[in-house]
Amino acid sequence: MKRYFIPFPAIFFSISILAQSKVDILHYKYEIELNDNNDTIHGKSEIKFSVPTVFKSIDFDLSGKPETGKGMQIMRITYPDAWPVDASYDGKNFQHKNDKITINTERISLKKDTSSIIIEYKGIPSDGLIISKNKFGNRTFFADNWPNRAHHWIPCVDDPADKATVEFIVTAPDHYQVISNGVMIEETNLPDHRKITHWKENTPLPTKVMVIGAADFAVNNIGEVNCTPVSTWVFPENKAEGFYDYAPAKDILACYIPYIGTYAYKKLANVPSKTIYGGMENASAIFYHENSVTGNRDEVSLLAHEIAHQWFGNHVTEKSFAHIWLSEGFATYLTHLYFEATKGTNYFINGLQNDREQVIAFTKSASWPVVDSTDNLKA
Ligand SMILES: [Zn+2]
Repeated sequence: MKRYFIPFPAIFFSISILAQSKVDILHYKYEIELNDNNDTIHGKSEIKFSVPTVFKSIDFDLSGKPETGKGMQIMRITYPDAWPVDASYDGKNFQHKNDKITINTERISLKKDTSSIIIEYKGIPSDGLIISKNKFGNRTFFADNWPNRAHHWIPCVDDPADKATVEFIVTAPDHYQVISNGVMIEETNLPDHRKITHWKENTPLPTKVMVIGAADFAVNNIGEVNCTPVSTWVFPENKAEGFYDYAPAKDILACYIPYIGTYAYKKLANVPSKTIYGGMENASAIFYHENSVTGNRDEVSLLAHEIAHQWFGNHVTEKSFAHIWLSEGFATYLTHLYFEATKGTNYFINGLQNDREQVIAFTKSASWPVVDSTDNLKA
């Protein structure tokens, strides 16, 4: 993650810590339906998890829907491998309040070891999935989950300690192209000008870097690094500038792999978006602020920062938000190493000196520590 104009370690906004779940999530399968008529999304989530030996209830995080306004309303919950087979909602099997779904497992006999739950829901996301218009006035959908905003649009355990594989099956009007984590395994046109796009990621991810983006994109396949395809997904209106600006991603990936180690994902896509941050390191589908496309390669350091996060933050993930400074620190340091490799040692030394001066200035002006290792970062 990188905020606009404010370098790490100045992370300062509130993070509410969600209670630890008793389950370990193994896989999320999210079916999401988007449309152009309104901002309501329809979701069907199949969540596979390991079943603890002693427990009375299981918690998942999902923003609730107040009487009026945005939020998610659960339509139906079923348990495909529990007894009885269809233990649908009867008002007693679960509660949904305070942004938490609590499943009463005393009424449902779950399979031992691993089990699944299917949650069907709908609503207008209050956060997490940004439905808006891009700078060219075109409607777009961009997820922006960091740090724990995923539960505003997908049921999950919204905690970096519980990583899981994930797949997104997005149905949307057929003029949209959909980008997500992992590998695209299906793209099929449907009747009524709709299209289904299916992406699947087999490397476990924290929810903070799970993502979808739906927009009218121009796509440029830049090439491969160690058999990993690198691509650019930008808005068609400034595609020449975008293809030029994001092309260094291939060289950055090629620089990092021998230095750090194997890249964990099957592709690397770089995408302008409506993220509220400067850049967001979503696993294998990095989102940047939409004004990052200038035609002048003004944001190469931002690319280097977010690509470094693919190792630190995404593949190796902090157990709690208290340690988020570790992944930010690695991303900051590795960005300097990339410039050392491409421009010389002076760039590395100057980068470190600038960081040092900014940290010293920060300690003099801010009322919270440079590295805040509490779980509740200051608002
Ligand atoms: Zn970062």
